[in-house]
Amino acid sequence: MTLSIDFIDRASGVGVWLAGRFDRLAPATGRDAADAEALSAAIERLVVATADETTRHADDVDTVNLFAATPDVPPALEGGHRRAGAATVRVSQALSSIARDAVAILAAADGRIRRCAGCGRVFHDDSRTGNRRWCSMLTCGNRAKVAAFRARTRSAQST
Ligand SMILES: [Zn+2]
Repeated sequence: MTLSIDFIDRASGVGVWLAGRFDRLAPATGRDAADAEALSAAIERLVVATADETTRHADDVDTVNLFAATPDVPPALEGGHRRAGAATVRVSQALSSIARDAVAILAAADGRIRRCAGCGRVFHDDSRTGNRRWCSMLTCGNRAKVAAFRARTRSAQST
């Protein structure tokens, strides 16, 4: 799994956030949901502070570090005869893996956390070159390309 950083989409909720990243996830308890929301909110505030170059709050750092210190989802190779470890992934393990990703990305301090040139949302640039300008090429990147194309077409017609 590649490192990634994202937060709970308020509209779709905790279950969708975790199911989108982890297979074989055990059902979430009420406490799991509260933990997921606390971790997601802390990561979101830290990422925004990083993108905007403001101070990271120590409480948010503590929250991420606490989750990262618990057992995570063990890595596994595909193609073996049997599954090692538990048949399901506990939500607490999923949250630990997310927190560890966040630690690695936030500790890198490589300028890859920034705001989208289109919508202004914060994103993590995981491209090889590290010079992505948009949160997504499908939405903001395409919109910018279409706008640039229209501007060129207009100036070509007016000459
Ligand atoms: Zn965007």
